Amino acid sequence: MILITGGAGYIGSQTALNLLEKDEDVVIFDNFSIGHKEIIDEIIKEYPSANFVKGDLKNFEEINQVFKEYKIDSVLHCAAMSIVSESVVDPQKYYSNNVLGSLNLLDAMVENNVKNIVLSSSCSVYGEQEYLPIDEKHPVNPVNPYGATKLAVEGMLRDYELAYGIKFVILRYFNVIGADGKNRTGEWYPGETRLITNLMKKIVNGGVFKIFGDDYDTKDGTCVRDYINVEDIADAHKLALDYLVKNQKSEIFNLGSMHGYSVKEILNAVKKTLNIEIDVEVCKRRQGDPAVLFADSEKAKNLLGWNPQKSLEHSIETAYEWNKKLKNMN
Ligand code: UDP
Repeated sequence: MILITGGAGYIGSQTALNLLEKDEDVVIFDNFSIGHKEIIDEIIKEYPSANFVKGDLKNFEEINQVFKEYKIDSVLHCAAMSIVSESVVDPQKYYSNNVLGSLNLLDAMVENNVKNIVLSSSCSVYGEQEYLPIDEKHPVNPVNPYGATKLAVEGMLRDYELAYGIKFVILRYFNVIGADGKNRTGEWYPGETRLITNLMKKIVNGGVFKIFGDDYDTKDGTCVRDYINVEDIADAHKLALDYLVKNQKSEIFNLGSMHGYSVKEILNAVKKTLNIEIDVEVCKRRQGDPAVLFADSEKAKNLLGWNPQKSLEHSIETAYEWNKKLKNMN
């Protein structure tokens, strides 16, 4: 049985669907602070054998109880707060959910003798790039609280390996985009969030899209990021888990497309793919944004056999379909 924390959220739910499609037994644990019951209902409608427990990682007993109730072999730890701008204004929320929550999870694993964990981490741990593309040996120096909390959890895993024999795979995602190809799940977060979702919200609901700064030292002045499809990310979790169980060796992998797009390039790709005009305003820089991040993902390709398939256009189309669905649901 695989425990998926945050399995009602964007990446956790996509990963749960991916594993259930491959006949894995899963138990999803989520407090619905970001995840949604509607997504769990959708998963259970399609896969009635999927298990769900509503609970909060900040409460040790709630997560410990899941290990007592289910025979868990491995953990996919996707539960986290992950909005960079929010982490700058409300770091407490990030330290309590991401760091304390992970500590409780690891302690429950130790108590119940579960040794394998795949962690959803982030390219935010790197901070400003010293060279490009960023490989796993690049120095880590987060420039926002979100990245700092992810780095703290990575450190816990290393220490828990040495002391208690926990084995881990850390997946450092770059910018995850797109939605489920069957439109069952996608990014669903209130307020201003990530680039492509913000663009889709403007297209679907109207309003002016804001570019956060065009005075960066990049090709067109806007920030450059590495955008990778959520279904490709879900595939990587399954591969990471298989790798961990087979090799019992802790590793870190970057997950990206190895290609950097500027904000303006993404904007143009959205306009072209959807054949749509978008009102744009250039605003000042957002706090905590490094100028350029894109990945060297060769290690994941070589060791995990990860082979991302989905195009930027596919991600844009699926994100659009998902945001139309969300609008109709509200
Ligand atoms: N961004 C933007 N307008 C938005 C949302 C994001 O210009 O409405 C920019 C943001 O400043 C960053 C890039 O798009 O340079 C990617 O931001 P996102 O929040 O998607 O991901 P992050 O890299 O911060 O995790």
